[in-house]
Amino acid sequence: MNTIDTISALCTVPGGAIAIIRISGTKALKIGNAVWKGKNPLSDSNLRKMLFGTCATDNKGNHADQALAVYMKAPYSYTGEDVVEIHCHGGALVSRRILDAAVRSGARLAEPGEYTFRAFMNGKMDLTEAEAVTDIISAHSDLALNLAEKQLSGTLGKKINHLKEKILNILSEIESRMDFPEEHLDWTPIEQCIETVNEILISVRELLSTKTKGVIIRDGVKLVIAGRPNVGKSSLLNLLLGQERAIVTPLPGTTRDTLEEFATLRNIPVKMIDTAGIREADDIIEQKGIERSYASIDLANVIFWLMNASENPEEEFKIMLEHTKGKKNIIPVWNKIDLSHKDISTIAENNNFLINTPVHVSATSGTGIEKLLDAFEQLVWGAENNSETETAVSTRHASLLEQVEPHLSGAMEEIVTEDWELAAAELRKALYSLNMITGEHVEPDVLENIFSKFCIGK
Ligand code: GDP
Repeated sequence: MNTIDTISALCTVPGGAIAIIRISGTKALKIGNAVWKGKNPLSDSNLRKMLFGTCATDNKGNHADQALAVYMKAPYSYTGEDVVEIHCHGGALVSRRILDAAVRSGARLAEPGEYTFRAFMNGKMDLTEAEAVTDIISAHSDLALNLAEKQLSGTLGKKINHLKEKILNILSEIESRMDFPEEHLDWTPIEQCIETVNEILISVRELLSTKTKGVIIRDGVKLVIAGRPNVGKSSLLNLLLGQERAIVTPLPGTTRDTLEEFATLRNIPVKMIDTAGIREADDIIEQKGIERSYASIDLANVIFWLMNASENPEEEFKIMLEHTKGKKNIIPVWNKIDLSHKDISTIAENNNFLINTPVHVSATSGTGIEKLLDAFEQLVWGAENNSETETAVSTRHASLLEQVEPHLSGAMEEIVTEDWELAAAELRKALYSLNMITGEHVEPDVLENIFSKFCIGK
């Protein structure tokens, strides 16, 4: 992505009531005034004012459609460049024609994430803040949105910058010891240098400890509903979603393929997967569905294994154990308890293979669902607390922080032996990895990977 061209893109979803076209770059004002015309042209004298006018919406560039336009001058815009935004009537054709007119006047169509990329390149945001923009767009829960908003406001970036500052201070101390070894200036005592590096190391470890939480909040939890045919898997999926998503019938084997839906359970973003019932099937389509069920079970973070409490519960329990032995992420669920007249609680008693206690529910009446969600929440968070959080690192941040750790430990050892050159080298490596988090040093392919996840127009 070059940052020289003036770029243009539709920033809203095609077909909505209003479309917004954004033009960014040195020629934005010229192109904006070619595409849009009002009583007065867009200019420095009407900066940031929404002006009424018309837009070029036919192939010859005739101005027919009504539109609003606003001009934001560099550096006071999202990208840090001159930006013109045109708000026109929605509809794929209208916005397409305006974009065509912008291209005819000298703009290039923007690539995915190119506006945010420019904002990053122009110092409007660091890399953690740019990443937070995609997190905001893809947030499926209050927790995820809250975390992304905090990251966009710089919470993580500030913490990393604070650590970098501390490393730089020690580095300058060490460098002055190397430059003037015999001049015994007012050196910071060695113990204090070690203490400071240790403090940085503790902060790095604290940030790293938020990784699990960050992954749960950002990526969500893969929850698979499994069990034999007709035990009530689709009924439970529908109940949890609060809508009739899966077809529920009294006939076994109706869910022949996995079915996926996003939801939020107890504020945890969840991808719920309803699977084909596990049984010996002759039908080739059903067999394929069952193979997919096994694949989903293998990839799941949490599995609700449903058993029919009303029919042959001992057999149901035996089959559940056969499929789940040793798995820690299974929550056994007795369903149809409203139909059950047997004491099923004794079946699971004294069973060494059972890791989580079975929950009793009725997917048709909703009985026991809160208990099931309690068990789910406990399994997901484990030792983590589920409160809102200031910062929670992503896998990219965590892998870089993991690189920082040994360099800080190494630096402490070198400081003890007063090998200042090696200590400085370790600290510089730690600094380099921290700079990769905020984006001061970053490989082009890493940038490309981050910004390719954005949509066009962002
Ligand atoms: P699946 O094949 O495992 O997805 O099972 P379904 O959700 O399609 O349910 C099979 C049948 O059992 C349907 O007729 C449901 O209405 C019924 N069913 C599911 N859960 C319950 C329950 O808790 N109580 C009762 N009485 N019937 C249920």
